[in-house]
Amino acid sequence: MSKKRTREDLEALLLSSRRITERGCWEFTGNRKAHKFNYGFQRFAGRAHHVHRLAAFLWKGLSLSDSETHVLHRCDNPPCFNPDHLFFGDNAANAADRDAKGRGNPPKGEEHGRSKLDAEAVEEMRRLHREMAITGKDLGRIFGVTQAMAARLLKGTAWRNPR
Ligand SMILES: [Zn+2]
Repeated sequence: MSKKRTREDLEALLLSSRRITERGCWEFTGNRKAHKFNYGFQRFAGRAHHVHRLAAFLWKGLSLSDSETHVLHRCDNPPCFNPDHLFFGDNAANAADRDAKGRGNPPKGEEHGRSKLDAEAVEEMRRLHREMAITGKDLGRIFGVTQAMAARLLKGTAWRNPR
């Protein structure tokens, strides 16, 4: 039903879906469903991707199949996808960056996290895990629940979908 989106289409889509802030951030104005940290998401080539990773793919040479490389924000503004504000790091750099920015631990207990996840959020978490192979740890961080809670949600032991 939808025709295949080319790289050029994706570039045009991203460039027409940004709000440029005073600091020069390009905040994504499209789909931003990953709750806590507000990352943008966009489907491309059959999968959902973080928009800042798509920006790194388009303008910084990242391979979309490269799951080892993290794309980090100099500006600490998750919805931003200005390539000048992005840099690459491995797991260690990602953890160090997160610690430096005070994101090392989920700020709330899992009960709190659980109460604010609705069925749609849980579905999205499972979809991201399935389609993008985002780990429970990263999903926990993105959705604002503990890693243990994210793992239980992914396994389906902490949340039962209403029929
Ligand atoms: Zn920025």
